Parts: sequence; C-alpha cells; structure tokens
Amino acid sequence: MERREFLRKNGELFLSLPFLAATRPDFSLRPGLAEYESYAFTIGKFKCRVFKDQMFKYLGKDYFINVPDEEVSRALERYQQKPDNIPSPFVSMLIENGSDKILIDTGIGYSREPITFRGKSYQFQGRLLEILAREGVRPEEITTLVLTHFHPDHIGGVYSDAGTPNFPKARVVLHEAEWDFWRSDRSAGQSPMFYLFIRNNIEPLNKGNLELLRGQEAEISPGVTAIRIPGHTPGQIAVRLASEGKGLIYISDAFLHPLHIEHLDWQTNYDLDHAEARKSRSRLLSLAAEAGLPIQAFHFEFPGIGRAEKAGNGWKWASAKI
Ligand SMILES: [Zn+2]
Repeated sequence: MERREFLRKNGELFLSLPFLAATRPDFSLRPGLAEYESYAFTIGKFKCRVFKDQMFKYLGKDYFINVPDEEVSRALERYQQKPDNIPSPFVSMLIENGSDKILIDTGIGYSREPITFRGKSYQFQGRLLEILAREGVRPEEITTLVLTHFHPDHIGGVYSDAGTPNFPKARVVLHEAEWDFWRSDRSAGQSPMFYLFIRNNIEPLNKGNLELLRGQEAEISPGVTAIRIPGHTPGQIAVRLASEGKGLIYISDAFLHPLHIEHLDWQTNYDLDHAEARKSRSRLLSLAAEAGLPIQAFHFEFPGIGRAEKAGNGWKWASAKI
C-alpha cells in the first residue's frame, strides 16, 4: 500500500498516539526572561548557544513503558517531577566558527494560526526565530542546518507556515538512513502527525540544498562530526564538536530523561527499536566518558548540559554549566 494511502485509511489512528499527549502547548513559559531561553558557552574556537524553542509536558507512562508506576514515581521524586508532568524543552543549538554558522535542529516551528488536523486544533508556536532575532542572528546567516532526526520537535522550523525556507542560505545535512526510512514503507504506521511535519519540512528539501550523510561517522564541517545513533529512529545522529582539545556531544533524543542514563534498560514509547536504542545509549556514554566530553541533551532541563559519570556498575547524570 502507498504510504499516503495507508495514512488516509488509518487517519483516526493517530488520535490515540502518544506524541499528541505531548503536543499541547504549555503556557507556563515565562516570557521575556532571556536567561531561560538562550545559554551561551564556548568549545575551543566554537561559540555555542542553546536556545529554548518551547516547553512541553511529557508523561511517565510514555517515557518509561517497562517500569512499574510506583518505581517511576519514586525515581521522578528525585527530580521534583511527577509522572503526569515531566516538563521538557525543545531546543536548537547554534555553533559559530567565524562566518560559519551551524544550527542543529529547528524546534517545533511557528504557526500564526492553530493548525487544524483531522478535526483537531493544535498550537505550534516555537520561539526559535524570535530568539534568534533578539540575539542578533539573521536566518540568512545560517550556513548549515543539521537535522538529527525527523520528529516534529526537531524539524518543525525548517520551513515557515507559508512554505518558505526559514534558513534560505543553509545547506541541510541529515543522515541518509533517516531520509530513506521515512520515504519507505518501513515507516508506515507512524503517527500521521509526524508525516504532516515531514510533508511541510522535509519533502520540499528535495529541491533544496540537501546533503545526505552516510556511514557510522561523517564530517559535517571541520571539528563537527555526525555519529549515527540508531534506535530512537533509524537515522538519528549525535553531533560531536572538537576544537583546541575541547569537545561536546549533542545527543539529541538518545536519552529523553536523566533516568534513562541511570537505567539503560528503561524503555520509552518514543524509541522505534529498543535494542538498538540501548546499544546507541551505551556507546554514547562510553564515548563521552572516554574522551571526558560534556553532553548536551535536547530534552533534559534547559540548557541540558552536563556529564555522564560512572556510578557503581552504571551511570548517572551530573548537570553542569560549562
Ligand atoms: Zn525530541
């Protein structure tokens, strides 16, 4: 069956899918507090900034699907969180090296009007473009756009709601395995909301300045390397920065919560392949620890920067500003 055909026929399926529980806007974002929305640091000669696009609320039953409720509640208490409210940012990271400006992920995107999709209304008003403007970064200055995977909170801001590219001069870099997966029948049955975002933000790239990465590791630009970490999606990538003996790994959605670092076997509803995801998680932690690298974790408490440290036989997350 053609994928589109499949989607049309199974349109109602999406209403019960977990992503949508997380798509309702959280109005608790405090406007005007720049320190909550942009965090700057340097890695060697790279000037980096993490931007907070929008906040969302996730649920314990989606984040930890193979763990008894009682245990999830107890574990979340240490993070002052409850299973019915796990706040998480959507972020985007800018790396500047002279005139080279690399943006990793684009947030959920901004629509002036609520999006009506199959009879329901959704408000997607990510603030990435507004924050970039306030920080003095013009969209046409972005030279490279890196998309770590095709979930809405990462690709929503590639195009405007009018269908024009938000970063018109950027080459767009992503992994071939992600591109192939979402264009094949293997992705049939994913949330149709995912396809809405892919139709608006990925399909038009066919005509754009698209560059597909291949293999396990691939250089994006000098000192910026993509590392394939399948599991969450087949072609998800992490991005490793290396400059003047310093470094950092942007791990995207390899870990959604610090508890996934403490418990590598705790699975989430958002990973497509749990065994692959676990392998990628393990590999990332070893990689970061062996090289002594800090981590940026997309969904962790903003700005999501810290280190994975050995703890007994496992690991723990130590949030740390750099
Ligand atoms: Zn995500």
